[in-house]
Amino acid sequence: MHEMAIAQGILDIVLNTAAQHGASRVGLVRLLVGEMTQVVPQSLEFGFSALAVGTIAQNANLEVIIVPVTGKCVCCTQQFNIRQNQFQCPDCQSFNIEIISGRELLVDALEVE
Ligand SMILES: [Zn+2]
Repeated sequence: MHEMAIAQGILDIVLNTAAQHGASRVGLVRLLVGEMTQVVPQSLEFGFSALAVGTIAQNANLEVIIVPVTGKCVCCTQQFNIRQNQFQCPDCQSFNIEIISGRELLVDALEVE
């Protein structure tokens, strides 16, 4: 389980950003989590809530947005969603695929007061 370490990293970012803005409370934290990270949103939310106790982010609402895995065919430039690790172009059957999204793990938006 690497969610706890990830949650700690996210909390650090959130608290640093909030401090830079002189915030006294964190309202909403929106995260983009790529499917390829294999992060379990519930575990991430649990880890974040546990770690945030005693900080200004302890009542923050964590919103996790899952980003689907999107591939782009290097041969015919077709873009498509990758399901069940099928890294093959549906158009020309090439295996020469570039992953263009689905590896994200970042704070997309932050609401502070
Ligand atoms: Zn193709």
